[in-house]
Amino acid sequence: MTDRKRDYYEMLGVAKDATADQIKSAYRKLAMKYHPDRNPDNPEAKEKFTEISEAYEVLSNPEKRQRYDQFGHEGVNFGPGGFNFGRDFSHFQDVDLNDILSSFFGGGGFSSFFGGGMGGGRQRADPSAPQRGDDMTFRLDVDFDEAIFGSERTIDLTLPAQCDECHGTGAAPGSRRTTCATCHGSGVVIAGGGIFQIRQTCPRCGGEGSVIDKPCRSCRGTGHVTKPQHISLKIPQGIDSGSRLRLAGKGGGGVRGGEPGDLYVLINVKASDIFERDGLDLGVEVPVSPIAAALGGTVDIPTPDGMAQLKLPAGTPNGKVFRLRGKGVRSFRGEVGDLDARIVFEVPSNLDKRQKETLEEFQRLSNPSTFPAAQTFANKTRIFYSHKEKLQKSR
Ligand SMILES: [Zn+2]
Ligand SMILES: [Zn+2]
Repeated sequence: MTDRKRDYYEMLGVAKDATADQIKSAYRKLAMKYHPDRNPDNPEAKEKFTEISEAYEVLSNPEKRQRYDQFGHEGVNFGPGGFNFGRDFSHFQDVDLNDILSSFFGGGGFSSFFGGGMGGGRQRADPSAPQRGDDMTFRLDVDFDEAIFGSERTIDLTLPAQCDECHGTGAAPGSRRTTCATCHGSGVVIAGGGIFQIRQTCPRCGGEGSVIDKPCRSCRGTGHVTKPQHISLKIPQGIDSGSRLRLAGKGGGGVRGGEPGDLYVLINVKASDIFERDGLDLGVEVPVSPIAAALGGTVDIPTPDGMAQLKLPAGTPNGKVFRLRGKGVRSFRGEVGDLDARIVFEVPSNLDKRQKETLEEFQRLSNPSTFPAAQTFANKTRIFYSHKEKLQKSR
C-alpha cells in the first residue's frame, strides 16, 4: 500500500466540508492547468493530473467520499488483494472486523477511473431498483466448554443498513434523481485526446448514469448508513473450529426494499487447559502415581459427561493409552466421539521422613525381577563392554 499518499482534499485545495460544486470547480481549474494536452513533455504535470483526477474520482462520488472520510485511502483503494485495515478495532473484542469490512466493501463491482483501461466503465445498475444487502462474515472465538456444551451468545456488530431518512434512495426530501449531465446517462465518458480514446467510468455519477440533485444528509447520498446491531446467536453443542453458522437475513440491510443479506459466523474454538480435541474425539493426559500403577487401582478421568472411573490393571506402564468409548464430544446431531486417556507417571516428590524410609525399605527389598527392563539393560551394557575388551586385546 502507498502510505505516503497525500490527502485528497489537500490535493484539490478544498476544505473537508467542501460542497460537490466546490470540489468540481477546484478539480476543473487544476485539470485545465495540468492537463497532459496542455503540458506536452512534462511528466510532472502528467503525474499531477493523475493525482488530482484520482482525488476527484473519490471526492465527487458521495459513497466513495464517505468511505474515504471514514477510512482514508484504504477505504477507497480496491486492490486485487482486498483490504488490509491497519486499524485498531480491539473494542470489538472477538469479532474480526476485517472480515466484516471486506465483505461490506468487497465485491462491489468497483472499477477504477484509471485502472479501467480500454473499454472500461462499469455496468450500469438501475439506481432505483431494490438492492439486496451484503452477506457478512465474521470470526467468533468460542471457549472450549461453550463449544462442547453449546451456549447462547449476543454479539454487538455495526452493520450497514438502509438509511431511514431517505428510505435508501440517497436523495434528500424534495430532491430527485436526474440524468447525469456529464455522461448523458450512459455512465461512461470518453477521455483522452488524440489517437487513443479511453472509455472510463463517469466520474460524476460513478457509472450510475444519474445523479441526485440534493444528496440525503444523513447518508451522504449512499442510501445506507451503519447501525449498531445486537444479535443473539445459538452456539450448537459440539461445534468445532471452521464451522460456519448462517443467520439468514441478519447481514447487511437491503436498500430500497431489497432483502437483507445473510450473516455468516465463522467459529474458532479456543484451546482447553485439559483436553486436546480432534473432531469429536478428545484426548487427556492423566498424571498417575507409579505406585498406584504398580499396585493397580482406579483413577478419575474427566469427561464431558462427568468424572469417569478408569480401572488400572496392576503393572500399567507409563504412557499407556486407555480408550473410553463414547466419552468424547457429543454433537447436536447426536454423534459422539471417544476419549483417549494417556497415563503419565508422576515421580513422588516432597517426601517426608517416613515416606523416604518406606521407599528405602522398598528399594532394599527389590530384586532383579522387580525391575526387569533395568535388568535387561544392565545385561546388554555388560555385553557391549566385554566385546570392547576383546577387541582391544586382539589389536
Ligand atoms: Zn439517506
Ligand atoms: Zn455520469
